[in-house]
Amino acid sequence: MNRRRQIYEGKAKILYEGPEPGTLIQYFKDDATAFNAQKKGTINGKGVINNRISEFVFTRLSHIGIPTHFIRRLNMREQLVRQVDIIPLEVVVRNVAAGSISKRLGIEEGEPLPHTLLEYYYKDDALGDPLIAEEHIACFGWASNEEMQDMSSMAIRINDFLCGMFAAVGIRLVDFKLEFGRLWDGDYSRVILADEISPDGCRLWDMATGEKLDKDRFRRDLGGEEDAYTEVARRLGVLQDDGPSEVFDLSHHRKLRGKK
Ligand code: C5P
Repeated sequence: MNRRRQIYEGKAKILYEGPEPGTLIQYFKDDATAFNAQKKGTINGKGVINNRISEFVFTRLSHIGIPTHFIRRLNMREQLVRQVDIIPLEVVVRNVAAGSISKRLGIEEGEPLPHTLLEYYYKDDALGDPLIAEEHIACFGWASNEEMQDMSSMAIRINDFLCGMFAAVGIRLVDFKLEFGRLWDGDYSRVILADEISPDGCRLWDMATGEKLDKDRFRRDLGGEEDAYTEVARRLGVLQDDGPSEVFDLSHHRKLRGKK
């Protein structure tokens, strides 16, 4: 059997050469990392769930006219995507204060922001993905002004759409991270949405209980990561087999941690 050529291995995904030029296969792992890979672990079945959730989200986004790298899902853990040159930025969209902004600026977690905030981080593991200003991006040529326009307007549209999509299933979209890539056509390129959208890169809070349904469960040792990711998938209706309907209850993880 031919081994596929591996192009890149990241913390949560592997990219293999695709079946046609200009395509790649994106493989979703169960590996989880946090704090710039200082904390490592696995979340059983995460790759399968994230593959499904990301397929669902990217397909819905394409329906509202957002260009994405997603072509189709191939199997439980893999999807076929367009090959792009990743722009070395993480675009973070925030609706509610949490995580690094709360720490950096002393804003209480859960405080709604006066308006949606876009932040840019320079993608560089060795530097710990530092927060940067648009001036740095222009100064060092990481993206052109036109590309910045395209990315920021797409990020706002994606946020509006996803806020509604998650609210419809009782989930508050607190913040999330996007990555974009350049799709080349001869000498010209356009910016399209790349990477994935899943509970690994979003903060998703249950609207009724405030329970975290995302990677913060792993980052903060809350337990119940599998249950939380599965719950997001179930609410979005992307689980093939829902199985016998179980009551969603993360409270036992709370009790395990000795909280009420
Ligand atoms: O840590 P911070 O509060 O800056 O994260 C903001 C959002 O971006 C979170 O939803 C987090 O999951 C996501 N993020 C990510 N990958 C990173 C940094 C942040 O997916 N390297």
